[in-house]
Amino acid sequence: MDSNEIASRASALMPGLLADLERLVAIPSVAFPGYPAEPVEEMGRVTLEMFREVGFTDARLMEVPSGYPPIYGEIKGPEGSPTVVLYAHYDVQPAPAEQGWTSDPWTPTRKDNGRIYGRGAADDKGGLVAHLGTLRIFDGKPPCTLKLILEGMEETESNLEAFVEAHPELFECDLFLICDMGNLEVGEPVLTTALRGDVACIVTLRTLEHPLHSGVFGGAAPDAMIAMARLLATLHDADGNVTVAGASTSVWPGVDLSEEDFRASADLLDGVSLVGTGQVGDRLWARPSVSVIGLDMTDIAGSSNVLIPGVRAKLSMRIVPGADPEKELDALVDHLKSHAPWGAQVEVQRTKAAPPFRCETGGPGYAAARWALTEAYGKPVGEAGSGGSIPLLRTLQQAAPGAEFILWGPEDVALARIHSSDESVDPAEIQSMVVAQALLLQRLAAGAPPA
Ligand SMILES: [Zn+2]
Repeated sequence: MDSNEIASRASALMPGLLADLERLVAIPSVAFPGYPAEPVEEMGRVTLEMFREVGFTDARLMEVPSGYPPIYGEIKGPEGSPTVVLYAHYDVQPAPAEQGWTSDPWTPTRKDNGRIYGRGAADDKGGLVAHLGTLRIFDGKPPCTLKLILEGMEETESNLEAFVEAHPELFECDLFLICDMGNLEVGEPVLTTALRGDVACIVTLRTLEHPLHSGVFGGAAPDAMIAMARLLATLHDADGNVTVAGASTSVWPGVDLSEEDFRASADLLDGVSLVGTGQVGDRLWARPSVSVIGLDMTDIAGSSNVLIPGVRAKLSMRIVPGADPEKELDALVDHLKSHAPWGAQVEVQRTKAAPPFRCETGGPGYAAARWALTEAYGKPVGEAGSGGSIPLLRTLQQAAPGAEFILWGPEDVALARIHSSDESVDPAEIQSMVVAQALLLQRLAAGAPPA
């Protein structure tokens, strides 16, 4: 099939694909602890059925020691054709009312801007439907050998890494097609080539043996929360750049996001400025960021006039592609231990050291993907980073050393608002992904050097 034929097939498939998407969005498949299991199980069953119908006739829910099962299937391609693993996930983030949804998250809603709203419409039911569409382009007979892996717990404590380690042979392939990303803006194609890693620790700071009357002792004895605030304040300079000595930084070589677009997608409150200096791409993908993600101290309801003797804060630091997570965590721990004010006692417990990831961009799969994306969008392709971390990619890399990774999808950064209120997807992005994936598979199978 030539590009035009694939494009016209994709266009004809869209009404059906969007109906499938809406059916899936209506199932609240939240795999977090404390949420009902039934919808996640229903989502697994419905998804399995859909993928069996498009050619993965042997697809099945795989056995795992705990949690929701991944779906796995294979379609044999022509003899000697390359093997491609299609990845997406069928669980979604919760969508609590406090997030401020303007339409019901579990009622897929088409709005005037042409987008479809609902939890998971983009992340990652949009990606899942893009895989369905890709299979339908080939009437279930793709030009490559395909393996399907649909994860059921991506948004929570994933069980897939352990599954991959237990069954590495299922993941042997030439290329992973990870459809769980997106362009920075609708209609502007990018390949995601770098993901930050993530390290975390819990810092406990103590200044007193026990609580003290704040009237009797306050003013001369330091309370732990004020000391913690001063310690945390040392992590950034006045512009908001991270000041942790020894934390790696680099320069982002790919496309940049404008401050305006970033602002719009982040929904900063009026008057709040961005933090950090330099181009946005550097701040997001080439420099560390440090956030306080939890704090234990006396809550207001239980407060009284005492100096608080000890507090705990949990810190997360995103680290740049290429960095060693243990070394980056060392730098953060050293900083915390050496910057406590007033001789406060500081203990740091290391809780996470997830590595960053960088895609190889010199192989035939990447060249074919670049060509396919250019064809699908009619525009040159940029490279983007992603602030999110996907530890699974490392595990997949170990299962299939030498395999290439293509990271893309319909979750545009500017408007999709994944994990937030009013998540949405632009159907045009799903359609373009279907075209790009079909073209990529054909090109890989042909083995021809991309134009
Ligand atoms: Zn996702």
